[in-house]
Amino acid sequence: MDASALCRLSVALDLPAHLALGSVLTYLGERPLAAGTLVRVPLGKASHLGVVVGLADEAPLDGAEPTALRPVDEVLDATAPLNPAWLNLTRFAAHYYQRAWGEVMLAALPSHLRRLDATQWAAQVGKLKRGLASAPATPARPVAMPDLNAEQAAALRAWRAEAGATARPALLFGVTGSGKTEVYLRVVADALAAGTATAPSQVLVLVPEINLTPQLEARFAERFPGQAIVSLHSGLTPVQRLRAWLAAHTGQARIVLGTRMAVFASMPNLRLIVVDEEHDPSYKAQDGARHSARDLAVWRAQHEGARVLLGSATPSLESWAHAQNAGGVPMAGRRVGELAGSGRYQLLTLRERVASAPLPQVRLLDMNAPAATADESSRLIHPVALAALKACLARGEQSLVLLNRRGYAPVLHCGACGWKSECAHCSAWRVFHRTDRTLRCHHCGLTHRVPRACPECGNLDIKPLGHGTQKLEEQLAALLAQAPTAHGGPVRVARIDADSTRLKGSLQAQLAGVHAGEVDVLVGTQMVAKGHDFRRIRLVLVPEPDGALFSHDFRAAERLFALLMQAGGRAGRAGPEADAQSDATSELIVQTSFPTHPLFAALKGHDFEAFAAATLTERAQAGLPPHSHLALLRCEARTQAAAMAWLNAAFDAGQALLDQAAAPGVSLCPPVPAAMARLANVERAQLLVEAPRRAALQAFLRDWHAALHATSAALPQEVGRAVIRWAVDVDPQVI
Ligand code: ADP
Ligand code: ZN
Ligand code: ZN
Repeated sequence: MDASALCRLSVALDLPAHLALGSVLTYLGERPLAAGTLVRVPLGKASHLGVVVGLADEAPLDGAEPTALRPVDEVLDATAPLNPAWLNLTRFAAHYYQRAWGEVMLAALPSHLRRLDATQWAAQVGKLKRGLASAPATPARPVAMPDLNAEQAAALRAWRAEAGATARPALLFGVTGSGKTEVYLRVVADALAAGTATAPSQVLVLVPEINLTPQLEARFAERFPGQAIVSLHSGLTPVQRLRAWLAAHTGQARIVLGTRMAVFASMPNLRLIVVDEEHDPSYKAQDGARHSARDLAVWRAQHEGARVLLGSATPSLESWAHAQNAGGVPMAGRRVGELAGSGRYQLLTLRERVASAPLPQVRLLDMNAPAATADESSRLIHPVALAALKACLARGEQSLVLLNRRGYAPVLHCGACGWKSECAHCSAWRVFHRTDRTLRCHHCGLTHRVPRACPECGNLDIKPLGHGTQKLEEQLAALLAQAPTAHGGPVRVARIDADSTRLKGSLQAQLAGVHAGEVDVLVGTQMVAKGHDFRRIRLVLVPEPDGALFSHDFRAAERLFALLMQAGGRAGRAGPEADAQSDATSELIVQTSFPTHPLFAALKGHDFEAFAAATLTERAQAGLPPHSHLALLRCEARTQAAAMAWLNAAFDAGQALLDQAAAPGVSLCPPVPAAMARLANVERAQLLVEAPRRAALQAFLRDWHAALHATSAALPQEVGRAVIRWAVDVDPQVI
């Protein structure tokens, strides 16, 4: 060993922020290693994957100096180090979401990498290189591209007009079926063409759920033959994920399609990020750093000289507010805080469906009306909705009935003693599944056979209350059993939800059946409402949307509006030819007990802008996002009392900081039990932090986070022992 070359290396490891250790430790290296180099280092008795983040001390160690530092085990240098931009991205994310850098970095790398030593890693890299060299290059056959319509062309022109360092993030606001994907394809083609032979461009396309969008993958593959396209999502095996990651990291993959984790893909020549359905809640991770892939995509693009295009028919109010007033026109009468007149995003608009296919007509059915309350079946399906379903059957057209609750009935109930099928481990009911006669908790998975009699009083007559997709499927089949169909056979009702698609490949098979016209009435959860390009559906019925109207979560209405617009977007996608053939226009029917609710008025007019304006005004008045910024401190404990005691101490510690006036405008709400107070025998409570500005919130969180360790340590032992974990959720999506 050449002692003069010995140096101290800072290595980031997967150690969570709450360990006093920190996540960056110092090791002894035989030679200086570039930041971003993968290494294996000893920790305790085991060897761990880590990432070099720099030299701990610029001065080389004096060979004679005694040192307690442990040496690096080995260096995984078969590929180039992770680049500085990637290190910056993960450091920012860790900082912003109040996590340890090493934790964020290691979670962003494919997990299989942790199990490889330097030799195995080199073998994987070699295999990939050989694979690419021997793969027959797909001939670049020209694919017919549709001519853009006027709106698409205008959007593309506007996008191209902004370039270079001053280009803003763009929001493509386009109604369902307006041809947003075609715009993505053009923008991707531009980015790929802008690359050079030595640094060919890479493009990242994020989708909320890649398993539901094989159509998108197919469209990219068809449009870009000969370009390496890889997918990065949780449906891959660890080895597949490693290979896809490696293809991105080495720059060989031109196009990376992925779900929220893919925002951390190592892509040395990233030129463009597209975020499809940017409003979708699944972009927000619900574990780990709880990052928002959409927000990080915007940050990442801006810091890597790449462009970013967000697209949606119902943009998040955050993005929408940023895209307002792009022309410098004041937003009439609206107080918009730090968003005021920002025009931070470029707004690109597609108002018409492709080839002017009309949007479905929206019909509201009042469930308080006598017709809807006559008997049990009318309370489920309004007679007018039933007639519309029958008319569809008679015309040979498909309909979709959307109910966001799977199972047969949400709860089983004993009329004699009042027993309900509660979950022993959660504050939730166990759902009755009729197919296998089980009671299942959808939160912790607890499953039992349905009891023959009431477990409390022995009453044999226990009944399901309410209905889920299974019961809806059964009742629709019964209600439509006598209805004449265009195909002459009996009505074919099918159901697609998480239960029907448990087996691998079953979702694809069931969707194929729908596309092939083998189904008349499709019952489904939100799984079928998003993204699918169904060509035969002419009627969408939503029997029970009301639950979200009066939720304690202020974003519930925004999510409902998006879901209804998406669901409506599944109807009438086949265009005017189908309209001409049919004697009916496509329709979205919504059953509600609150037909005068403003949300439905906006829905009727397909008027996202009206909905957004009204909701933003409400949010401004209430000081809610995007007019303020939130963080949630969540605590999980063995008892609710311990969780509350811990949060109360955290509240006091936070209040003490605020009294020192460290963070102007920040305020703390008293701790409360979580909406689902018990989950899998763990008690949950939370504390909300509000701030008018992001910077103030970040400054407060930093100090508070540091103080919380001391707070925890000072608590009575029995509280400390009962607390399982705590974490800060920055920009929480579900309150
Ligand atoms: P969105 O993503 O906005 O819902 P899509 O991009 O899926 O819409 O477009 C809907 C359909 O219209 C697709 O089948 C697509 O191939 C087709 N399409 C898009 N743009 C055009 C165009 N300019 N000319 C003809 N067809 C188009
Ligand atoms: Zn009973
Ligand atoms: Zn449970």
